[in-house]
Amino acid sequence: MSTSPPADTPVGFIGLGIMGRPMARNVLRGGYPVVVYDLVPAAMQELAAVGATIAASPAELARAVDVVLLCLPDSPDVEAALEGEQGVFAGTRPGQIIVDMSSIAPVVARRLAAAAAARGAILLDAPVSGGQVGAQQGTLSIMVGGDAGALEQVRPVLATMGKTILHIGDSGAGQVAKACNQVIIAVTIEAVAEALVLAAKAGVDPVKVREALLGGAAYSRVLEIHGARILARDFTPGFRTRLQVKDLNIALETGRAYGAPLPAAALVQQLFGVLMAQGDSELDHAALVTVLEEMAGQTVA
Ligand code: NAD
Repeated sequence: MSTSPPADTPVGFIGLGIMGRPMARNVLRGGYPVVVYDLVPAAMQELAAVGATIAASPAELARAVDVVLLCLPDSPDVEAALEGEQGVFAGTRPGQIIVDMSSIAPVVARRLAAAAAARGAILLDAPVSGGQVGAQQGTLSIMVGGDAGALEQVRPVLATMGKTILHIGDSGAGQVAKACNQVIIAVTIEAVAEALVLAAKAGVDPVKVREALLGGAAYSRVLEIHGARILARDFTPGFRTRLQVKDLNIALETGRAYGAPLPAAALVQQLFGVLMAQGDSELDHAALVTVLEEMAGQTVA
């Protein structure tokens, strides 16, 4: 493709989880024909019910579309979907643009981009921020690494899912930006949880404390959204704890590789590790508060 895709360009979407389902719906709403693939048939059927076509494999999907989008949990999942026997690379063709919107290790993103280039295809890393709500509302922030010209070609497709679409740099740069994002989110969740436990332990109403803080310099989306989840004790994901730990591990590995100390992220990674060890890996990451509650001998709500 040499110009932006017209709205009848077929788009493939692989990975229909908490994020991928609403993102694929928004691509459909944008007028693009969408072909889907997921390991879970029910997830594909949900999208088929609103107009998507189901592919039998990532290879079949790649043969049927011009642009391939992926939103999978972790590096090995993206490697399997691209490089597996029936993977995208088995069905790709020169000039095809593959956009990986999963959060994975930058080093893996770079390797996969080179593997795509060896087949004449272009792979962009384009992880997202904004959570389930941003995915549903089509307001995600999309951080892109790789060929800037290819980004311009697929920008109209990405614009159906996100409001801020930024070219960060070369291949892997999008994933580095996402790792930075996840350091801030995880450390902020810990700070919000810690503050609300302090309020409760001091005999002060955490609901009122959050309300007051939302109007001041301590405002953050995390205080707003995760603070509300903590007070409602609603740990339905959202963002699964195991994926939060995956992202902190990516940040810590990247820090090690480049010599950037991440003392707060390292501490919070250990606290999330407690949650994992307790068997709560599928809960929303706001459940981190339960670890702090146990340490304080005090529940927030
Ligand atoms: P999820 O676990 O809800 O969904 C992942 C989906 O991928 C599932 O439907 C699963 O069946 C499918 N899958 C796994 N391996 C596959 C394969 N080889 N082929 C086809 N399908 C496969 O995860 P999610 O919350 O949607 O997150 C997806 C990615 O987006 C992750 O990298 C995550 O870190 C990132 N992310 C999530 C959020 C969030 O708030 N949930 C926000 C920003 C970024």
